[in-house]
Amino acid sequence: MKETKILKQNRFGTCSKDCYGSCVFTGTWDDNLPERKFLNALPSKNHPFTNGFFCPKFTRRQDLIYHKDRLKNSLIRTGPKLENDFKPISLKHAVSIITKKILKIIEKEDGSSILGAFYSGNSGLISQYAPLRFFNKIGATITSGGICNEGGCAGLKQLFGTYSTTNPFQIISPSTKLIIIWGSNLSESNNHAYYLVKLAIKMGVKLVVVDSRQTTVAQKAHCFLHILPGTENLLVKIIIEELISRNAYDEKFLKDHVDNYSLIFSECIRIDKKRLIDQIGIDIQNFKNFIDLLIKFKHHTLFNIGYGVQKDYFGGRIVKSIALIQILLGNIGIPGSGLIYSQSDFLKPLLQPLLEYIAYFNEELKIKEIPIVNLGSILSSGNYQMLFIYNFNPASSLPNQNILRNALLNENLFTIVIDMFLNDTTKFANIVIPAKFDLESYDLVSPYYTPGLSINKGGPCPYEDCLSNYEFFQQLAWNLGFKKKMAFQESEKTIFKNCLNKLPLKIQNNLQNNGFYLLFDYDDVPFNTLDFPTPNNRIQITGPLFNFGENDFKRKLNLKINEFILISPSHSHFLHSQLKQLNSRYTDDFNKIYLLPEDIENLNLEIDNEVIVSNEYGSETYILAESPLLKHKTALIYHGLSSSLEGNPNVNCFISDKPEELGLSGSFNSAIIEIKKKDPNI
Ligand code: SF4
Repeated sequence: MKETKILKQNRFGTCSKDCYGSCVFTGTWDDNLPERKFLNALPSKNHPFTNGFFCPKFTRRQDLIYHKDRLKNSLIRTGPKLENDFKPISLKHAVSIITKKILKIIEKEDGSSILGAFYSGNSGLISQYAPLRFFNKIGATITSGGICNEGGCAGLKQLFGTYSTTNPFQIISPSTKLIIIWGSNLSESNNHAYYLVKLAIKMGVKLVVVDSRQTTVAQKAHCFLHILPGTENLLVKIIIEELISRNAYDEKFLKDHVDNYSLIFSECIRIDKKRLIDQIGIDIQNFKNFIDLLIKFKHHTLFNIGYGVQKDYFGGRIVKSIALIQILLGNIGIPGSGLIYSQSDFLKPLLQPLLEYIAYFNEELKIKEIPIVNLGSILSSGNYQMLFIYNFNPASSLPNQNILRNALLNENLFTIVIDMFLNDTTKFANIVIPAKFDLESYDLVSPYYTPGLSINKGGPCPYEDCLSNYEFFQQLAWNLGFKKKMAFQESEKTIFKNCLNKLPLKIQNNLQNNGFYLLFDYDDVPFNTLDFPTPNNRIQITGPLFNFGENDFKRKLNLKINEFILISPSHSHFLHSQLKQLNSRYTDDFNKIYLLPEDIENLNLEIDNEVIVSNEYGSETYILAESPLLKHKTALIYHGLSSSLEGNPNVNCFISDKPEELGLSGSFNSAIIEIKKKDPNI
């Protein structure tokens, strides 16, 4: 019997999921094995943030990568759209069909009716941006912007000229005495920061949590403010009024570093505190305890703001208003203080030349952009003939699913999806291209919580027809006759190497030796000179600061008995809408709508009842379930996967695609829904 030679080797890898962690690991591979070449992943113990552990969502990636349902062939549609009815075809044939379609389109008009839609399902820089070489060459349109944290970023940028102001390792700074976790379910969505917060608590740090759910981290808090979703700006207003009335603000800081700070004072006078506390739904004693802690630990307080609070029409202004508390107290630019939100702006100067090279941006740039959040309504115009989708599952993750899904049903829209598995979006594809996993590609990842860079050294993929995004678009470019163009001559590995060579030597060495580079050490305090990138280097206050969204807010306060504010957080075992194969035993949770037990009782309903959930955007069946962690009059449907009930609805069926006003991200938590028992005869 012929012996198989064992050829094990280690490669650095980075989890490329759109996640706070960007976990770095050492992957062990046996390249000589016929199929299961990737053996396991050992998270890096020397990484000061991820500290040698993965989250429970992605512990056994070796089972996912060789999962029985993974796509290994290109597929062409055999049945009508809305079903995953395909037959396999060769990659060559698929590329040839797509090439002919493109030639036909660009023969008659320019390429702008070809649309490339992508997001950060794989957050690798090459995976996301190298396909732009192709879209640029054919003069296509691409999606831009995001559906995540952009509102909050825009709000903070108005204040500081950047949305990144704080080193997240301040969580465990000896100077930090109080941590405020505002709207962030750390224990499930950022378990590495949660680990640091638990260390801080052991060191004697006090914890306050502000949230509309009683999360695990809220249960650990010394003080928990359980607020009605969307009332954050009102809470900030009474906090600020209380701090001003108790003379707790830092006058010197305001005078020296803040323009127009008097606006903070003028917008907080003559408020009816008792009425606001009732509307927000918090306990007065808890509120007082919170204020006492803020005053006691002035200049030693750190805020960590989650992205959920800004998934609202006024999300940017909500985050901006929260930041005012830290500004008023002078808790900026000194050890043990600051505002942790997204730290990706710190790396922009380093990444910009890399991105320009990866995407091959140059003076001939012809690319047009459309906001990703409005993909559905833009496709409904009928102006697009061809759609490429990669790193993205829009038929799950975008708002206003009914508009989007109807637009994707258009038979004149030829849709190509590049993915590892069939999913909600492939149901609308004409052709599906089997994608490589992140671990099978060369790439760089730039984390947004702990700013830095890490690498993926791609191992071999056992399936001949699986391609990375860049490899697919390179083949397409060659087929279209662009083989001699510089942009399509480089291999993915060459692009990766050239990116490394563009970095300072110290960073290159860190990446080669450890697999990662981090911008900050534990005790670094950015902006300690308090010179911000604003026109005059001072913090800029512009109003209105708290008085917005009155109409929406009034509606939230006057809900009928069967109306609820809808929130749609991530599920603890899933990350967004891809790779549901990993934790398929939890998929039934996406068929449910959760309410407080007393809210179920008020509706005269029982758990497991089938109910109709509806609003102006959709009407769908869900199963009623209870959650004691919610706030009165709040309903929860997990976002990410579609329900397996009839029509495969998704929580985003109820969400408007009117974007957040400042950053044009999704306003996912602004919906109000009605719940009624389903008539069993219908
Ligand atoms: S999903 Fe996030 S926390 Fe989990 S392994 Fe990936 S990067 Fe780490």
